Amino acid sequence: MTQLVPVLSAHWDEKDSFTIEAYTRHGGYKASQKALTMDPDAVIQMVKDSGLRGRGGAGFPTGMKWGFIPQGDNKDHYLVVNADESEPGTCKDTPLLMANPHVLIEGCIIACHAIRAKHAFIYIRGEVTHVVRRMNQAIEDAYKAGHLGNGVELVLHVGAGAYICGEETALLDSLEGFRGQPRLRPPFPAIAGLYARPTVVNNVESIASVPAIIANGAEWYQSMGTEKSKGTTLYSLSGHVNNPGQFEAPLGITLREILELSGGIRTGHTLKFWTPGGSSTPIFTQDHLDTPLDYEGVSAAGSMLGTKALQIFDETTCVVRAVLRWTEFYKHESCGKCTPCREGTWWLVQILRDLEAGKGTEADLAKLLDLCDNILGRSFCALGDGATSPITSSIKYFRDEYIAHITHGGCPFDPVASTLFVGVGA
Ligand code: SF4
Repeated sequence: MTQLVPVLSAHWDEKDSFTIEAYTRHGGYKASQKALTMDPDAVIQMVKDSGLRGRGGAGFPTGMKWGFIPQGDNKDHYLVVNADESEPGTCKDTPLLMANPHVLIEGCIIACHAIRAKHAFIYIRGEVTHVVRRMNQAIEDAYKAGHLGNGVELVLHVGAGAYICGEETALLDSLEGFRGQPRLRPPFPAIAGLYARPTVVNNVESIASVPAIIANGAEWYQSMGTEKSKGTTLYSLSGHVNNPGQFEAPLGITLREILELSGGIRTGHTLKFWTPGGSSTPIFTQDHLDTPLDYEGVSAAGSMLGTKALQIFDETTCVVRAVLRWTEFYKHESCGKCTPCREGTWWLVQILRDLEAGKGTEADLAKLLDLCDNILGRSFCALGDGATSPITSSIKYFRDEYIAHITHGGCPFDPVASTLFVGVGA
């Protein structure tokens, strides 16, 4: 059985884990010292060899992304860290930054050296003021200790709170002072990113994973995980479980194993459905308990690893209501740039509200799927696609529950007496 392996989360249980003293006590900032003695291309090669893939959702190889930055072009290069964590259920970067902000700062120093950048920006969600305070303190301490300011300047930029600013090009527009909306690509950020200069945009966890790779070597990192999904990662367990929180394990662990290691579904209840990677990834059921939680395994089973936000729902949850709540979120967060998403998410909410209230018809269910079909693949960015995932997947696994809302004139779900809607795998 796969075990939990704390690497990023190794010292989170220490009271002062967030301080520069604790970080250096455990060997912090030695990896950046080592990296600075290496040729930048060698650093990129080591990250490539490690197999590290972006932890923000897409899973793109981090070293390869760094390698796209043109060299010898006499232009400024930038590193931008995406800390605009706001997908429903996704909650890994906030605890990471609270428990160990210096690992991100050290990762920034190494990444800047590799891509030959002198400036890094961390774009953080404005609502998490406690994390902003902690990061500001950590950055100040890193400057005082001389880790920053001697070749790398680091700016913490606080966003105003828009889900779309987690999309990398909308983030860049927001960072430049414009309204955050996705840009047309190409050109990609590696060619024309922040201020039209070559830019790497990486997720917090991706950059925070780099110091350990430099310190321990690519082979060490490669020794964990599966054939194409290397290393450890943070799985965020939330919802109807006995012990919610962050569980770090090699990629490829299954939900069944995580539940066994973490205390399981809340006592006396059974799993109904769950998300493998946040609310924009197609839901899973009990049938997927043994799906390897790596990029390939989750994709082969019909969903996406996303941000590894494992939201667990037991048999007391009405799936129609849960999907309605997620869809309301996407409608609210649609940036309005393209018609399929702007108009489509509004209509999705209207139809779902009717269905959930028992005022819908089977024709509405067909219309809902038709709308999803016209949003998926026709939207300007991934928000539109993501808005359809919970709807189509929930109808696939729980069509009976949608129909029952229609025939019963409302939610028929009785959490005590009925086991009628506990899902395909129940
Ligand atoms: Fe904006 Fe939605 Fe279109 Fe993305 S899909 S550009 S969020 S309207």
